[in-house]
Amino acid sequence: MSDNTNTPFANFEKRVIDACAVLSCTDTESKKLLTPDRIIEDTVRLKTEKGEEQFDVYRVQFSNARGPYKGGIRFHPAADINEVKALAGMMAIKCAVVGVPLGGGKGGVQIDAKQYSKKDLEQVARGFARVLHEYIGPDKDIPAPDMYTNPETMAHILDEFEALEGKSVPGAITGKPIALGGSLGRGSATGQGGVYVLEEYVETHKLKREELTVAVEGFGNAGSNVAQLLHALGYTIVAVSDSRGGIYKKDGIDPYHVSKVKAEGKSVTDVYKEEEVEKISNDEFASVECDVLIPSALDNSLREDNADSVKASIILELANGPTTPEADEIFKKKNVHVIPDVLANAGGVVVSYFEWVQNRMHFYWTEEEVQEKLRPIMANAFHDMCSVSAQHGVSYREATYILAVERILEANRYRGR
Ligand code: NAD
Repeated sequence: MSDNTNTPFANFEKRVIDACAVLSCTDTESKKLLTPDRIIEDTVRLKTEKGEEQFDVYRVQFSNARGPYKGGIRFHPAADINEVKALAGMMAIKCAVVGVPLGGGKGGVQIDAKQYSKKDLEQVARGFARVLHEYIGPDKDIPAPDMYTNPETMAHILDEFEALEGKSVPGAITGKPIALGGSLGRGSATGQGGVYVLEEYVETHKLKREELTVAVEGFGNAGSNVAQLLHALGYTIVAVSDSRGGIYKKDGIDPYHVSKVKAEGKSVTDVYKEEEVEKISNDEFASVECDVLIPSALDNSLREDNADSVKASIILELANGPTTPEADEIFKKKNVHVIPDVLANAGGVVVSYFEWVQNRMHFYWTEEEVQEKLRPIMANAFHDMCSVSAQHGVSYREATYILAVERILEANRYRGR
């Protein structure tokens, strides 16, 4: 096991090793599950508006046992290989949990995207496609957006990739603009998938939505969508936050109104008059009074030092890696049910899978069809997780890792790996 305790990869490693212990895996099998198939590191040299520059480019292809590698690309100054390796491994787990025929990968470019013009970022995206050209493609490795990359970035990568291939290959990238073969429903898929999972939880535990209060940490793509969808279903959103702070309103926040104000470049803290809400700092947000806490911003927001103060009895992890293993132990003791990231936020990759399928069929679905297909996948994965949790007497997170490791192992065994 790695010496680096609490790094994202050490957290991932611990969770896989725990699952391997339950499944009595051999050392060779465990090692295979923890070793990426390939780490590609290269550089892109460009003439940006600042002059001649060089950027580090990398891609971790973790496992293709169950299908082509799949995972996002981030443009980030702290392009940390440890974190990307963990996220690539988590993608393999996530795809296996929801049962889509894809493996796990992740990658990025070391760049502070905020410091560059759109034109420069287009050159970086095209450089990424040139450097990784031989490694990506619809049957090899299918990138998608992640931090500081978006459908426009995917359009540039696809355009460069297709120019090198000399043909149309829309299934090489997902999260594309609709005009280039993107899927309807991809924008809200992560939030929508989380809602479907929460709805299964609520039905299974015979709870009443109208009686449940919800706090959403982070009001970006994942957070704003989940808040709006839950509000529309009758849940009461009592607290929301963004990088500048949070607000609490006992009688409920209108997330559509918050989105409108945020679209003007303001913070959630600017939405209501001072006397209408209680302001909460980001450090206090975890302990806000609510039934369902939905971390949708950064990793490690629920830790040993704040887990005890959490009032929620359900945590729906839309962010990747928001709970440390130490906080998990505290939640177990407090009987807080954590619906883990590898299931809760998997709606995004499921709809990416739908996009890939539609591209390969050259036949496109309506948004309603996308949602009709997404719901049973998320619901079945939730019930599979519950069965494994009951069978082994383990938490939901442990159950998802057991479920996924078992599925990846089965594929590895058939391949003789
Ligand atoms: P985003 O950039 O659209 O939104 C992030 C939000 O978090 C912003 O509102 C930002 O202001 C806020 N934020 C930053 N620091 C904060 C803090 N300390 N406290 C509270 N809020 C803070 O990002 P996103 O796409 O919504 O992704 C959010 C999380 O969800 C990430 O962990 C990401 O990996 C995960 N995720 C997203 C998707 C997706 O499809 N968007 C899919 C899977 C997982």
